[in-house]
Amino acid sequence: MSVLELKQVSKVFSIEIGDYLVLDNIDLKVDENEIVGIVGPSGSGKTTILNIISKLLKPSKGEVIVNGKLGYMFQKDLLFEWRTIWKNLLIGLEVTKQNTQANKDKIKARLEKYGLIDFINNYPSELSGGMRQRIALIRTLATNPSLLLLDEPFSALDYQTRINIVNDIYTTLKQEKLASILVTHDISEAISMCDRIIVLSSRPAKVKKEIVLNFNKNLSPLERRKESIFQSYFDQVWCLVNED
Ligand code: ADP
Ligand code: MG
Repeated sequence: MSVLELKQVSKVFSIEIGDYLVLDNIDLKVDENEIVGIVGPSGSGKTTILNIISKLLKPSKGEVIVNGKLGYMFQKDLLFEWRTIWKNLLIGLEVTKQNTQANKDKIKARLEKYGLIDFINNYPSELSGGMRQRIALIRTLATNPSLLLLDEPFSALDYQTRINIVNDIYTTLKQEKLASILVTHDISEAISMCDRIIVLSSRPAKVKKEIVLNFNKNLSPLERRKESIFQSYFDQVWCLVNED
């Protein structure tokens, strides 16, 4: 069953000098337990697609079908500096009125798993970038979303932290059978994490190509990078992104 479907979605922005087309008839489908990457040049309209999925923006044309609840994770972790980690983790539950003991226990179990349980009374500024991003993920997962929207969530992190957190988050997504969309301009990152990649053209964005990644299901993102086919996928996506 698909958790998300975009049918022929277009978006026109109107600015002083006139209208301009940003998305041109985008088709996209995401099934349960699937990680779909959206790769495209900067300014091609990737964030606009996520904003349309989350209903922050209205499509100018086309249809968006979402089956279930959405969770969002951004480049900036959006933790509130004046709240402790625990209070930050409860925000999502409070806002969505899911502040139950069972949901709180689930947060605690995830904190244990990530080795973050000892930090619940700390403030965000006392944690590293990688730890903060893990907290942001736990906060997002606490609301039990069926589709996770990840908008360049790792790009503010240093290289080593990024590789490690990608492994962790991939494992979490697969264990919890979550569907997700990973928006990134980092081709390697998309190939290391996704089941499928949608390559967008530069503005106006069209779906240029869809590439199904055939890695062994048991490989971690880091292990994928060591496979010889990784480089072929990279070359293929690189050419598509750079040819116009
Ligand atoms: P990406 O995430 O791929 O870098 P965006 O979706 O953020 O690209 O933006 C695509 C294009 O649309 C850019 O040229 C951007 O300046 C423009 N844009 C984004 N949001 C708006 C808006 N609310 N009004 C006008 N133009 C916008
Ligand atoms: Mg963006």
